[in-house]
Amino acid sequence: LDTAPEQELTDGFHLVIDALKLNGIETIYGVPGIPITDLGRMAQEEGIRVISFRHEQNAGNAAAIAGFLTKKPGVCLTVSAPGFLNGLTALANATTNCFPMILISGSSEREIVDLQQGDYEEMDQLAIAKPLCKAAFRVLHAADIGIGVARAIRAAVSGRPGGVYLDLPAKLFSQAMDAEAGAKSLVKVIDPAPAQLPSPAAVDRAIELLKGARKPLVILGKGAAYAQADEEIRAFVENSGIPFLPMSMAKGLLPDTHPQSAGAARSTALKDADVVLLVGARLNWLLSHGKGKTWGDAPKKFIQADIEPREMDSNVEIAAPLVGDIGSVIAALNARIDGSWQAPPAEWVETIRSKKEANIAKMAPKLLKNSVPMDFHSALGALKNVIKERPDAILVNEGANTLDLARGIIDMHQPRKRLDVGTWGVMGIGMGFAVGAAVETGKPVLAVEGDSAFGFSGMEVETICRYGLPVTIVIFNNNGIYRGTDTDPTGRDPGTTVFVPGARYDKMMEAFGGVGVHVTSPDELYRAVSAAMDSGKPTLINAVIDPAAGSESGNIGSLNPQSVVKKK
Ligand code: ADP
Ligand code: MG
Repeated sequence: LDTAPEQELTDGFHLVIDALKLNGIETIYGVPGIPITDLGRMAQEEGIRVISFRHEQNAGNAAAIAGFLTKKPGVCLTVSAPGFLNGLTALANATTNCFPMILISGSSEREIVDLQQGDYEEMDQLAIAKPLCKAAFRVLHAADIGIGVARAIRAAVSGRPGGVYLDLPAKLFSQAMDAEAGAKSLVKVIDPAPAQLPSPAAVDRAIELLKGARKPLVILGKGAAYAQADEEIRAFVENSGIPFLPMSMAKGLLPDTHPQSAGAARSTALKDADVVLLVGARLNWLLSHGKGKTWGDAPKKFIQADIEPREMDSNVEIAAPLVGDIGSVIAALNARIDGSWQAPPAEWVETIRSKKEANIAKMAPKLLKNSVPMDFHSALGALKNVIKERPDAILVNEGANTLDLARGIIDMHQPRKRLDVGTWGVMGIGMGFAVGAAVETGKPVLAVEGDSAFGFSGMEVETICRYGLPVTIVIFNNNGIYRGTDTDPTGRDPGTTVFVPGARYDKMMEAFGGVGVHVTSPDELYRAVSAAMDSGKPTLINAVIDPAAGSESGNIGSLNPQSVVKKK
């Protein structure tokens, strides 16, 4: 009886790691602490790359952008209650942007939480996460970890991608079970994001509309960028001859310098088009909900390619819904661009082209000024050249004026190279996205940040230095939010939208062993950024911008409510 062979054991820690590895998860972004400190250590020991941040929101943003770039769910690991809540902003943002991400959070003991007996970091995390993500699961038994991870992965990437919450109570990690049974309990997710073909009738309907169009327009959204159907999309645009307009994170899917790009003629294109094909772009606020002044008075018909059937008719009638994954939808359209296809009327193509050239010519001199202090245009003129010379670099961009103007001025040349504030227009994605992009792609990253936007994730410069990531941060430092000129009418405090004048963000980078540079002219900026990107060393460039430059709320001032009551 005493000769029974010693049973081999596994436990919750190891099963979580094995389940992630089995499904090709190579990186975890997180912040360590109770109860997941050892999970991170063990994951690192088992060969998973573990990137530890200073704040969970940034780790979550890194995971989310990893999901966007790779089509695999990015994983963020947080501690219970406050750490979980910090990660939740990123989870909600990922869901809003349709980025696949899994927030795995440790949590406190169910028995105590449910009786509200006041556990360490007590919180009903599953209930709180649910409305903010696509799906939320909790695992209570080690034997269910395999299924729990599989469900999380499939939920994140299938259909419309999004954020998933996976709740792992502290007790789960040390639960032991037979190692062989444990190995058998793991699930490798087969075909997690299956192709979804559009129906032939839907394709007929769309082709019919396109063929009858006098002023057709294709709008490419970040869903199209996510789909990684780059060749199909390029072939469709070029073979159809239809002008295209990229949404900001779809820039570079076809180069912004492409002759069919309507980027610099956006207003004309939206106003005058008669048939609009949306490819992975929603008719939300970023497209004025498909109606109103932006879209002009002429009648318009929409064709929408999207994986989410319920997206159709969300704002206006969709005359030809194309429900399916973008690769399959565009392939089906391409099969119909044959001998009978006629390019759009030359008059329409010419209208767009001439409008675009006029706008580009109007902008050009503003980009060439070598002025001190710099304004947004002259500084961005320098950065436009940096990206032109390094088309495979990744541009991260946030701010108000810094965002709006960079989006228009900096041409993108390759797909999925522009990462920005996305659907919510949210500040705080900067350093998380920069880290995620550098880790996932190994490419140089240029983060162009408003001084205010940078503040939301600025502490992660330590993370960037610690991991030695090839990230160059440029802070457009105009001493404030929108502008650096506000004052307190009572004279007591600084104005509500200003920061310490003349702040030296470059010194922050030096504090952690990175390179800090202070520049005041476009020439200096160009040279500093070029050198930083060539060196691959973590660098922060403090670019002094005229505090009076910039407009309130950037391009979206109309969204900012105004008081009608004047104080007497
Ligand atoms: P943008 O802000 O660039 O206009 P949105 O985020 O509004 O883009 O829209 C992206 C759309 O793409 C979403 O409606 C989403 O359902 C869709 N989508 C994401 N991935 C795919 C895919 N692989 N195939 C089809 N549609 C997709
Ligand atoms: Mg500013």
